[in-house]
Amino acid sequence: MTTLAQIIVAGGKGMRTGGRVPKQYLNIHEKPVIYRTLQALSALEYDKNANNSERSTCTVIVHAEGDEHLLESSIGDFSVSKVLGGSTRSASVRAGLESLRETPPDYVMIHDAARPFVSLSCLRALMDKIQTFQAAVPVLPIVDAVKLYTDEEIGDDVDRSSLRKVQTPQVFHFHDILTAYESLPVNIALSDDIAVARRAGLSVGTVPGEENNFKITYPEDFEKAETLIKANSMTEFNSTYTATGSGYDVHRYTDGDGIWLCGIKIPAPYTLLGHSDADAGLHALTDAIFGAMADGDIGVHFPPTDPQWANASSDKFLKFAVDRLLERGGKLQHVDVTLICEKPKIKPHRDNMRRRISEIINLPLSRISVKATTTEKLGFTGREEGLAAQAIASVVLPE
Ligand code: MG
Repeated sequence: MTTLAQIIVAGGKGMRTGGRVPKQYLNIHEKPVIYRTLQALSALEYDKNANNSERSTCTVIVHAEGDEHLLESSIGDFSVSKVLGGSTRSASVRAGLESLRETPPDYVMIHDAARPFVSLSCLRALMDKIQTFQAAVPVLPIVDAVKLYTDEEIGDDVDRSSLRKVQTPQVFHFHDILTAYESLPVNIALSDDIAVARRAGLSVGTVPGEENNFKITYPEDFEKAETLIKANSMTEFNSTYTATGSGYDVHRYTDGDGIWLCGIKIPAPYTLLGHSDADAGLHALTDAIFGAMADGDIGVHFPPTDPQWANASSDKFLKFAVDRLLERGGKLQHVDVTLICEKPKIKPHRDNMRRRISEIINLPLSRISVKATTTEKLGFTGREEGLAAQAIASVVLPE
């Protein structure tokens, strides 16, 4: 198992974009730039094709003083450590690196917050390159003619074949780059981390950069970014499929003081028998989500023989299934639960059940159905020996 830390440098005040809110916290197509950057980097964490897929990652965001609120409201559910930056980029990166000293990762990837379009293939190429170099960086050739320029006067041609544009993320062995920063005098601020690495004599490998991995700098860059997102979401749409899973569960009645059903407690002179809280509604729904992913069933993930699940609250099982779906890049679309029983009466509790499910799976109420039926006194449910639940979950998954 190797460990990778991703440091996102978000200390800039972004004045060139013209606004008062730093550019990394502004929206592109309804999501903040920094959120999209986190999303792009997190692709590596769930990369099933990685050579070293046994890799754990953590994320550090280095921010400017006073930006705490903006940052907090921009990162969604991403789990990150927040570190206060310094007055220069070099000082900020150094603060980020030093925050990792206690639990040093093997590698560290340092990235600009304002580059939300780095691709998974670029991230992969960097992680491959760092196996044979002490540092790795994406570079791009210059296609336009390049000339010297002083006081508004064009000067001689510069040989552009010997020039490269340098992007982020840049990747390093953690101890190498930490040592390089520590030996950098505090009054020296360099343009990027590769400059610090070279100053310390580290070997630098390059991978092909990407025109799309541009740094949002000017107001017009937001328009370019919007266009790119729309184009990407078309591709996303083309490479997903809809899947449906079903689940079924039964629990037996026994004496007690109420039952758990679809995440709520209903008082009654009986209960449901089971290893966990015996919430047949949530169990059926959990199995439906596993089914849509073709990912086994609740018994595989939470064996009833395992004492740690005794009396467990079933919202844990359901959350786990939803998290696995999100890790796959999937998304829940709709769920439908049917409860089959003579007792209790479901109707008075139906909306509370939907609200509770909505909280657990983070889906709007309009996409959550709970229905109930009796079996006309027929069969085990009709004889009031037990209660059955079935569920269907519809999800969208990447190909
Ligand atoms: Mg069950």
